[in-house]
Amino acid sequence: MAFVCTMPKQMMRDKIGMTETQRPMQVLPGTYQLSANLNLAKDIKLAIALNIASLGMFAGSVLLSFKFLQLIRPSLFTDPLDGLFSGYLSGTFLVTIIILISVIVGMIFLHEAIHGLFFWLFTGGRPKFGFRGFYAYAAAPDWFIPKPAYLIISLAPLVVISVVGFGLMLILPSAWVLPILLLVTMNASGAVGDLYAFFWLLLKPKGLYIQDFGDRMAVYFPREKAGDAEQE
Ligand SMILES: [Zn+2]
Repeated sequence: MAFVCTMPKQMMRDKIGMTETQRPMQVLPGTYQLSANLNLAKDIKLAIALNIASLGMFAGSVLLSFKFLQLIRPSLFTDPLDGLFSGYLSGTFLVTIIILISVIVGMIFLHEAIHGLFFWLFTGGRPKFGFRGFYAYAAAPDWFIPKPAYLIISLAPLVVISVVGFGLMLILPSAWVLPILLLVTMNASGAVGDLYAFFWLLLKPKGLYIQDFGDRMAVYFPREKAGDAEQE
């Protein structure tokens, strides 16, 4: 059975071109050293900037989603009986609040579950889930993950939820469209930290390993490259 289970993970690693020496590891060779830390919560200026960016991302994705739906599913805006809001205008305030809370909670769990699934696909180890303050996280503190794999893990929830969400908005009954639209746009807005980590890492040299603690991450370089990286 283990053979069957390890096949997709192996294929995943091969697909992104991880070499034999660039697999996730639980012990890093002595030639690597800690070179950079990213802690989004500790840097107050960065945290404020990310919160503003997150509001912008929310507004932008709501606008884009409406434009997209107008093009692909115009009946949502023209049909009074099967429109985007038709199922809600007659509903009670309480039902709307319950739907809203379910969407927010569902989005948080789904987002972290997708990070967790990708941690597991690459490492084969069980990821850690938890809460720190208002933030939920998925992490793999026992693993050193190569940069290509980590880039995929960081963007997976944004890409998967957006693509699947838009697919569902096109085929599900109209009453489902608004909750899914809210889930997709809130997920996009909540992914600004992931996007920041993605580009922060993308600009760093090849060959590095990342250790994710949930609320911060540590980056390790081979000794000869560590000097370049520390200048950032
Ligand atoms: Zn995330």
